[in-house]
Amino acid sequence: MIVLETKLKGTEEQYEQLDEAIRTAQFVRNSCIRYWMDNSCIGKGELSKLCAQLAKEFEWANKLNSMARQASAERAWQSIARFYSNCKKKKLGKKGYPRFKKNTRSVEYKTSGWKLSDDRKSITFTDGFEAGSFSMWGTRDLNFYQIAQIKRVRIVRRADGYYTQFCVDVERNVQHEYTGKIVGIDLGLEYFYTDSDGQMVANPRRLRKSEKRLKRLQRRVSRRRKGGKNRKKAIKKMARQHLKVSRQRKDHAVKTAGALVASHDLIAYENLQVRNMVRNHKLAKSISDASWSMFIEWVEYFAKLHKIVTVAVPPQYTSQDCSGCRERVQKTLSQRTHQCLKCGTILHRDHNAAKNVLVKGLEVLGVKQAENHASRSTWAEPKTALAPYSRVQKERRGIFQDSTGGTRKLIRLGMRTTSGQSKATSAG
Ligand SMILES: [Zn+2]
Repeated sequence: MIVLETKLKGTEEQYEQLDEAIRTAQFVRNSCIRYWMDNSCIGKGELSKLCAQLAKEFEWANKLNSMARQASAERAWQSIARFYSNCKKKKLGKKGYPRFKKNTRSVEYKTSGWKLSDDRKSITFTDGFEAGSFSMWGTRDLNFYQIAQIKRVRIVRRADGYYTQFCVDVERNVQHEYTGKIVGIDLGLEYFYTDSDGQMVANPRRLRKSEKRLKRLQRRVSRRRKGGKNRKKAIKKMARQHLKVSRQRKDHAVKTAGALVASHDLIAYENLQVRNMVRNHKLAKSISDASWSMFIEWVEYFAKLHKIVTVAVPPQYTSQDCSGCRERVQKTLSQRTHQCLKCGTILHRDHNAAKNVLVKGLEVLGVKQAENHASRSTWAEPKTALAPYSRVQKERRGIFQDSTGGTRKLIRLGMRTTSGQSKATSAG
């Protein structure tokens, strides 16, 4: 499934009709949620029956294409199902009890209620709202697919206009070129990410700039009198800037993730709980800035396309432990260099962390590293770290013999399949 997006060009009256359709979709969705709350044992089937009933009861609900009504019911069901699965999984904290939507921005049609022109440069919405024909910007890619392949059409309202998204049923086939390279990445503030080979990807400056502008516009809104005309204007401007920032963020995430996946066969990353971290006020801004979670989502997406392995590792101690000898070297956030007195490893803090992430990732996957030197050396261990590494091996063996049943030391040495898990649970 791929999504193609075009911008709609119409008159004010037409846009108002689109708004009506969106409002109706919201009404259907909320009615479904209400119905589910008030009755017990409501399944997906009951909700779709409810849709038909609503159409009979309300004239304007009947205006919305029947399949679009069903799609709204499906959306309601999705949020209910998510709530159920969170409960079943005994997820900690909020379970996401379905809520009513107040500001829906989209309506989804399936295979009816719309019609593309032969040249695919305009679209007509044919349901009861009679929004009519819109010409479209950005239709080039639409020509590559059959109409029958378009399974859904979504109208989306944004700060700068109305868009349609076409969900096209097509297998994206990507031939991954295997490079034999495996990598661990450490997402950071100084650099967007650093990988285990020491390469750094910078934070996008452009984004920083437009975010500053967004901040300024936000202040302007709060200075304006509530309910006033000027406030409305300021809000509109701010919304547009929001859109710009989110587009830039996405753009950066997609490009960086795509490049990372295309050039590696295995990617290990830290399983960051961004939500927890954003609560920590000092880091809050920068973390949401860097939009790590979005980046990881795209890495996962591309990895699936390329059919390569990704592994999320528990983040505990990745920046503290020495990647050369696994000695824990305490450091504050401001210390940017990792320096191990035991084995003499000196690395950039993030580079060290990225190497640990890779090792942990292999542990989680059950790759026995310590016992298999060959595999380690083929997997691109940077030359600088090789010398101390062999010395550390001897030392480690010593540690192992001295140890009086210290499982932690054993884990450090052994890196067996279970060690990743046991470490994860003990640390978490
Ligand atoms: Zn060390």
